[in-house]
Amino acid sequence: MNLRREEFPGLAGGWHYLDSAATAQKPQSVIDACTAALGRDYATVHRGVYARSAEMTLAFEAARGKVAALIGGRADEIVFTRGATEAINLLAYSWPRKGRVLLSQLEHHSNIVPWQLAGWQVDVCPLTADGRIDLDAAEAMLTREHTMVAFAHVSNVLGSVLDVPRAADLAHRVGAMLLLDGCQAAARLPVDVAALGCDFYAFSAHKLYGPTGIGALWGRAELLDAMPPWQGGGAMIDRVTFAKTTYAPSPQRFEAGTPAIVEAIGFGAAADYVGAIGLDSIHAHEAGLVAALRHALRQRNDVTLFGPEQSAGIVSFVMDGVHPHDLGTILDEEGVAIRAGHHCAQPLMDHLGVPATARASFGLYSDESDIAALLRGIERTRRIFG
Ligand code: PMP
Repeated sequence: MNLRREEFPGLAGGWHYLDSAATAQKPQSVIDACTAALGRDYATVHRGVYARSAEMTLAFEAARGKVAALIGGRADEIVFTRGATEAINLLAYSWPRKGRVLLSQLEHHSNIVPWQLAGWQVDVCPLTADGRIDLDAAEAMLTREHTMVAFAHVSNVLGSVLDVPRAADLAHRVGAMLLLDGCQAAARLPVDVAALGCDFYAFSAHKLYGPTGIGALWGRAELLDAMPPWQGGGAMIDRVTFAKTTYAPSPQRFEAGTPAIVEAIGFGAAADYVGAIGLDSIHAHEAGLVAALRHALRQRNDVTLFGPEQSAGIVSFVMDGVHPHDLGTILDEEGVAIRAGHHCAQPLMDHLGVPATARASFGLYSDESDIAALLRGIERTRRIFG
């Protein structure tokens, strides 16, 4: 794969950015699309009677179509949200059959806390020894009381990839819906929601080389249509009177207020960008880097690696006698950025028996030089800590 590193101004100066799972750097095409939308082309959407607004509305709705196409959905099945977090909150609050939800031990807090807050009974599926969601256990746990199964498609800590067709089959056998938290997967794997068989898919633009402040909830049209609105305001209504208000069809019903116009257009540009490169190429590229880094770290007797061998773009580890935060600080002095901490997955840290891990995560622009710099930094850290 052509690395196209020069298309990412955020990487100028040879920075070894290994924190793409937190947020990805932006290509110039996305920056340019946002700049034009915020400047030359700027106007509101859906309401204006003048040409600029009509053009902006077309661009905004075209972005919805691009985002939908990236995951194999239809434009009217994409609800724009502030991000994956808001997408999961929307579903947890609005799904009409609240009951028991089956989550897993490796979920990000944003796929745990919304269910707790919205009053669901939460059950937790354990993991296999190598850190994948244990679907045999899920099969044994699921009952007719479960109305939702909500799993990460790719773990943000371990990189483990869910066997989605099997998870969908298990959920549907008991009459439950399957939500995938696709925050990491959408940027790392080809996703086709129809082929996967899931019912809802939540993801954020900023992990997908797009802007912050926007993401999406994809849902099958008939399911979104059956859901009541969750926030009220402009743009989500059909007719308002003090006696009775009726609502717009989905997805507008879930998009109260002036939307994130510029960000949506940037999201569309990001979908175009990764779509043109191809997520299968991105996946293969990152898989090669994961294999190389895991192999190098296994040569050291002072490193513990977590997660399965076949992980998607993400490698978590700890070094004996070195807190991940200290490692992160020393690596920063070497121009290497990793993430150190609990990664918004405290239940997973409890399961692993560590307070934190160091995490290196790749993007389409990462290469062997990033791995070499990381390994040099690890070696220097060893010399400092003895
Ligand atoms: N789920 C996973 C697996 C994530 O990695 C993240 C971001 N770290 C989120 C959900 C939340 O995404 P956002 O903060 O963009 O809403």
